[in-house]
Amino acid sequence: MSSESVKVVVRCRPMNEKEQAKYFERVVTVKVKLGQIIVKKPKETSASSPPTIFTFDSVYSWNSKQIDLYNKTCRPLVNSVLLGINGTIFAYGQTGTGKTYTMEGLRNDPESRGVIPNAFDHIFKHISRSQNQQYLVRASYLEIYQDEIRDLLSKDQSHRLELSERPDTGVFVKDLSSRVTKSVQEIEHVMKVGNQNRSVGATNMNVHSSRSHAIFVITVEFSELGVDGVNHIKVGKLNLVDLAGSERQAKTGAKGERLKEATKINQSLFALGNVMSALVDDRTSHIPYRDSKLTRLLQDSLGGNACTVMVANIGPASYNMEETLTTLRYSNRAKNIKNKPRINDDPKDAQLREIQEEVARLKEQLKKRSGDIKKKKIQRRAAKGCNGEDLEGETEDDDGDDNGDYWREQQLKLERERNAIMEDHSLVAEEEVQLLNEIEKKMEDLRTEREAGELIEAKVKAMESKLLVGGENIVDHTNEQQRMLQQRKHEIAEKDDREREMQLQMECRDEETLELKETFTSLQQIVNSKTKKLKKVFTKLMAMKAEIHNIQDAHIKKRQELEQNQYDLIKKLKLKHLIIENFIPPEKKSELDSRVYFDEEDEHWKLKPITPALKPPDYGRPPFYHTCYPMTKLGSRYKAVHIPTLKLDLPTRTTLDYQAPVVAPALSEALRNSVKIDDVVVIDASDCEGPASTISGLKKSKSGRSRAGKRSGSPSSPGPPLYPKCRGLVPR
Ligand code: ADP
Ligand code: MG
Repeated sequence: MSSESVKVVVRCRPMNEKEQAKYFERVVTVKVKLGQIIVKKPKETSASSPPTIFTFDSVYSWNSKQIDLYNKTCRPLVNSVLLGINGTIFAYGQTGTGKTYTMEGLRNDPESRGVIPNAFDHIFKHISRSQNQQYLVRASYLEIYQDEIRDLLSKDQSHRLELSERPDTGVFVKDLSSRVTKSVQEIEHVMKVGNQNRSVGATNMNVHSSRSHAIFVITVEFSELGVDGVNHIKVGKLNLVDLAGSERQAKTGAKGERLKEATKINQSLFALGNVMSALVDDRTSHIPYRDSKLTRLLQDSLGGNACTVMVANIGPASYNMEETLTTLRYSNRAKNIKNKPRINDDPKDAQLREIQEEVARLKEQLKKRSGDIKKKKIQRRAAKGCNGEDLEGETEDDDGDDNGDYWREQQLKLERERNAIMEDHSLVAEEEVQLLNEIEKKMEDLRTEREAGELIEAKVKAMESKLLVGGENIVDHTNEQQRMLQQRKHEIAEKDDREREMQLQMECRDEETLELKETFTSLQQIVNSKTKKLKKVFTKLMAMKAEIHNIQDAHIKKRQELEQNQYDLIKKLKLKHLIIENFIPPEKKSELDSRVYFDEEDEHWKLKPITPALKPPDYGRPPFYHTCYPMTKLGSRYKAVHIPTLKLDLPTRTTLDYQAPVVAPALSEALRNSVKIDDVVVIDASDCEGPASTISGLKKSKSGRSRAGKRSGSPSSPGPPLYPKCRGLVPR
């Protein structure tokens, strides 16, 4: 069994008066040839955001014709139904986008007839042209509102129907009434009745229809002689569905009963969306058909054995953009649903078979009756002395007339007998009454028998009249063909127009191409000159880069020299600093600091002269420290205090030099030995700063002082410094 995708087409309605009056922006573009719908966000929201593009099997613009949509999209599906395959056409979309317009159209305008009336025409025309086939067409009309099913053709509109399922035929609505229709007028009448019932109880028909799903079902049963010589019955069921508005009802701020209603509508459309998603998702095996009555009823149309067409209706104006996008996304998903269409061959529940069998049975009864009559006739003629062979020439075909004659003859005979009895005066009154009663009874029996036969005949006729057979009479057929011819001519003319239009478009395109080519050549020239310029600039850039490199090298060298210079200067400065810190008294230093200044002209440091007030009197020699101190600290009162260094005039010497006494040699030897120094004292003062100063071999005899050297341990052992540390040496 081959699979077939759900066919999805999109139709965009024209701007309505309200939208035109309010100057709403058109956000939908329909590219019929490419099968594309382009939705561009309104200018004020985002100028730069790219448009969203969707591609479908077909797209229909605001000026599309109803008949074009039918012929291109729906006719093939209805043809499948006429072969015995189930089919579903459903219109989906926001309220006011043209679902009902697409499905039903405008009643009073033949040009605007929608899918459903076009399907009626199509089906009955097909039947009228068929040969050797018997058809039975039935129509049902139901509505699903708040997940409850109502039979729109039933007298009792308060009754709610339930769904049931049979393994061979699948899901069906239990006790749903159907009307046998034999012509377009009859089926249109059925639809009218249903629509009237739909509005019963609805306070606002527009609101009601936007919240309920309407399903018109046409069942076409037909029998044809198979190659096996047996009559086969096939049944195709066509569901024509006008769904509730797909707008989010909860958003409308409904409350109470309205909210309940809204939730249920949402539920069924939500369930429809879930079924579609599950069908296109390879990972999901469970399809939630049972979530709503709508999805259960459409089960074989979505992923089942039916052919399905979905017409998504959208509006063009900017204020509907979000809903439009939702509809398009929803439809885009539906494109991927796969069905496996199957011909319903000899289904058990075919009513055509029941009718055919009943007609055959009744005909058999009639045949039997006429057989009886024939026998009676033979007997009657035999009684009259007629030759029985004459009767054998009578055919069964003139049974009807013969039967009529028979009943008439019998009636006349009984009447004649009655008259004879009444005129026979020899009979006693009682006898006459009895005979007349017998005659009356015979007449009554005769009438009953005749009526029974007539009843059966009427029944057969009624049953047969339900069945449609093809074969129009030749005049109708010719007229029809002429009409078709006209239509074809019309179509050819339209095609010519379209071709012309295309030609014009091609020419326009050629011009555009030429313009583009010119632009391209001029652009090429610009590119060439720009390339030349670029090359020049590039060479310049390279030269500049080389120069920058050289400058950087020179700069680095100069910098290194300067750093060396700075290093030398710091070295000198450190030396000077060392000398100042160690050899210039702090007072002198601060005095010099206060006096020193930099002469910008000469670019030299200079010393200011000492202030005359502080200058001590000139005594021909530099002032003493003790002179300067009181002068600076105690004030100028002491400025004259100056202590001169004068040599003293010593008195003449009046004493003699010391004369040592004479000592005996033995004593003198003993004394010399007592003060004799044993070792030589060596002092190493190479590093006088640290404790590393080493003193070795220091020994003082007889004085009893500390001893160092050989007995005092290793030279590295720390000991008290023998020389005082020099003051203020700056470490290097
Ligand atoms: P829905 O059933 O989706 O709520 P309707 O079919 O009632 O919408 O359409 C709303 C209005 O728009 C109606 O007046 C209808 O005639 C008009 N309309 C819808 N589609 C078209 C179309 N393709 N061309 C002209 N008029 C349209
Ligand atoms: Mg509608």
